[in-house]
Formats: sequence, structure tokens, C-alpha cells
Amino acid sequence: MRKLFSSATTKLISAILLAALCLAVCINTLPVWLAKKMMVTSAETLLSAEACNVSAILTTASGENGGTDLMNVSVAPANRILLIDSTGQILLDTNTEYNRTGSYMLTKAFMTALDGEAAFFSDLTSEAFHYSIMLPANIPVENRQSAVLCITQSDTNGAAKIAELRTKVLYLTIFMLAAFLLLGVWIFLRLHRSTKTLLFGMSEIRKGNFKYRIDVNADQEFAQIGRGLNELCETFAATDERRRRFVSDASHELKTPLATVKLLSDSIIQTPNMDREEIVEFLTDISNEIDRLTRISSGMLSLAKLDDTSRAVQKEALDLAAVAETVCRMLAPLAKASGCQIRHELTPKIFFAANYDSIYQIFYNLIENSIKYGSKGKEVRVFLFERDHSAHFIVDDDGDGIPPEDLKRIFDRFYRVDKARARATGGTGLGLSIVASSVKACGGTVEAQNRQGGGARFIVRFPLPNISDNTNEPESDKGGENA
Ligand code: ADP
Repeated sequence: MRKLFSSATTKLISAILLAALCLAVCINTLPVWLAKKMMVTSAETLLSAEACNVSAILTTASGENGGTDLMNVSVAPANRILLIDSTGQILLDTNTEYNRTGSYMLTKAFMTALDGEAAFFSDLTSEAFHYSIMLPANIPVENRQSAVLCITQSDTNGAAKIAELRTKVLYLTIFMLAAFLLLGVWIFLRLHRSTKTLLFGMSEIRKGNFKYRIDVNADQEFAQIGRGLNELCETFAATDERRRRFVSDASHELKTPLATVKLLSDSIIQTPNMDREEIVEFLTDISNEIDRLTRISSGMLSLAKLDDTSRAVQKEALDLAAVAETVCRMLAPLAKASGCQIRHELTPKIFFAANYDSIYQIFYNLIENSIKYGSKGKEVRVFLFERDHSAHFIVDDDGDGIPPEDLKRIFDRFYRVDKARARATGGTGLGLSIVASSVKACGGTVEAQNRQGGGARFIVRFPLPNISDNTNEPESDKGGENA
């Protein structure tokens, strides 16, 4: 029972039925009460005026000693006239059928009239409306003196009208209750169907069926919830797909070096009398593969950390030029070994609140990639400047650039344009993904372009507070991909 009333649908239906019941009670009482009140008020006015007239007529007709036959006095024929003495005994009753002359009438109204005030009262029976008025009247009746005059009027027409009104109101109530009941059933069925659809959809999501879409062809609120759940499903499905792809890519990436390590170690074990030089060569290859495995696992770990949005990162106001300069200095030996040099134009004192390691990693990965893949032109150019309330960090090279069809996927995890070449340069395909995730975590954007003159360009933008432009930028090129 408690469970039944904890349901919103049951509460709503109960509220509708309660409202219908209240309305039915009001409709059944108010109009009848009003009609009765109006009838009684008008009857009171008419009867009061008539009572004064009758009192005057009777006083005149009775003469000094009351000898005249008061029964013959012509007053309104529908009225019954009673004259009561101060003890409450009826001295005269004009009704011949139920004549009560001689009996006593000690009612509250009589007492009021005896006290000198007119008293009106009414009573509704199934046959008629009975109105009575009592007022003080000293009229001689056969040597006795009356104290109160009572006039009673019966209105059968008014009673019939009230009965008719009651019947009409009853029909209206039955019709209204039926309409409310139908409305309640209709609302219940609609709510029931919508909630059932939503609950079924939610159970499908809970089971992991992210392809399921809830039918949003329902009432506005339910359609909104349905749309929200469908969007949630799409996000879940995309995340699930990314996770599956990542796991499959990661296992694929790990499989190759592991297979190489296994092959080389098996060769050493199974080849008797292998000469030392050959063993050293095999072990060097094994060591290289282990380095590669280490790079992959640390890349995956970095990405897992970046994916964890609940992780708190320590931020500080960083001078971006100082970080970029440190990275250039750190990579200078690699550039030299590759036969190129790093040239940089860095606007100093551009401060950005971020984690030092993240910014260092972003700059390092981009400059290292340009040395690895674009040092053909013997120069890697690094720029840092402010523009449009953003810090722009740009790395240009004069290499082969990135094939336009690969620009879209360049920031995907484990994506490499030329797998063989990337493998030769020790690439894992995680460097740019780490850049993209780190930049996003800082609230910035990263974009890859091919320069018109050849070579690749990577642009990172960090949002800055409102500071005036201080530009030191390279020539503009088009055709890029954002992350
Ligand atoms: P990797 O570890 O293989 O370098 P990244 O995610 O850093 O992985 O880069 C992904 C791929 O993008 C690389 O394999 C390379 O093919 C391409 N790439 C990155 N930077 C450049 C660049 N400056 N010029 C040309 N290609 C690049």
C-alpha cells in the first residue's frame, strides 16, 4: 500500500479524483443552497409586508371587543393565520383542515415575537416550502386578547423548483465524475506508458546496451528525459568504442615488441655455442624492445592520468617562454644529432596558470616530433606570442608535412602516418594524443597544419586573461586539423 502511494502516478490520479470529489460536493450543495437562500429572502420580505397588512386589517376588523368573526376576514387565501395569546394558546386558526385552535405553540419564534420582535422561519419538506412569520399583535378575539400574530405560507412551486435543480445538479455531477474518471484513466495510461518506456531504456543502458535508443515521442518532460538518456547513451557508446579501440591498439602495440623479445631470447636459448658477438647483438635488440615497451607503458600511464578528470593537478603561474626555452635547450643535443638546429622567438613574461609538467610535456613532444619528422630542412622554428587573449605556441618545420587524409586522425591514440618510420624513430603513436589531452586539460586547443611552403605546423592556444596584443608571429598558413 505504501509502495502504491509512493508512486507519482498514483498521487496524481488520487489528486485528480479528490479534486473531482470536492467539485462534486460543491456543485451539489452551493447552487441549491443559493437558490434556497434567495427564495427564503424574497419570501421573508414579502411575508413581512403581508404580515403588517394582515395585522392592520385584523385590528380594524376585530372591532373593540373582538366580536367580529375574524375567520371571515378576507386576507390572502394561501396564507394560514394564527392568533396566539401571551400563554402560547392558539386563539384563532384560519386553517379548517388542521385547525389547532386551543392548542399551545411555545416555540422559540413565539418567544421572540412575545418579546416584541418579528421572527421569520422557514422549512423545506418534499412537498412544499413552508415560511412563517410571527410578530407582536394585540388583537381582541372573542373577549380574549392575542399577543402574537403568526402567518404561515406554503410554496409548493418553490419546492418543486428546488427538487428539479437538485436532479439537474445530480446529473451534472455524474457526468463530471465520469469525465474526471476518464481523464484520470487517460493520464494514468499515458504516464504509465512513458515511464515504462524510460525504465525499459534505463535497464537496457544498465545492461550495457548503448546502442538502444529511447522512443522520445512522448509528453514534453518525458521526451526531454528520453533525449537526455539517448545523448548519455551516445556518450557511453563513444567512450566504450574508444576504450575498446584503445585496448585493442594497446595489445597490438605491445604484442610486436613482446614477440620480438620472445623470438630473440628463444634463439639465444636454442642455439648452442652461439658466439658472444651474436649474443650481444641479440641482447641489444631485446634491450631496445624493452625500452620501447617502457615508452609505450609510460605513455599509456600518462594518458590514463590525463583521462582521470577527478585527479587534482597542481597549478602555478608559468612563464611560458621560460618553459619553452628549457625544452629547446634540452632538445638541442637531439637536434644536433639529427643535423638540425632549433631557432626560437619567444615573447617573455606570458604567464599562464597550469601544471609545469603538462606544459613541459606539450612543448617537448611537439618540438621533438618536428626534429624527428621534419628536420629535413635543417631548422625547427619555435614561436611564442600573445594574440586575441590567447598565448600562441607554434612549432614549424620544413619536413614532408602530414598527408591531408591523416590530419584528421593525427591526434588519435597509437596513430602513426608511417608506422615503419615511426618505429625506426622510436615512436609509439602516443605523443600527440598526450599533447591533445594535456592541452584540453589546460583549457586550450591544438591544431595541426601543413605549411604552404612545405613542412608541418602545430599551433597550441592557451586562453589568457584580457591582455593587450604583443605579436611576434610567423607567416600565416592554412589547412589544419584541430584537437
Ligand atoms: P610518435 O611516437 O609515433 O611520434 P606521435 O603521436 O607523436 O607519435 O605522432 C603521431 C604521428 O604523427 C607520427 O607517427 C608521425 O607520423 C606524425 N607526425 C607528428 N609530428 C610530425 C611532424 N612534425 N611532421 C610530420 N609528421 C609528424
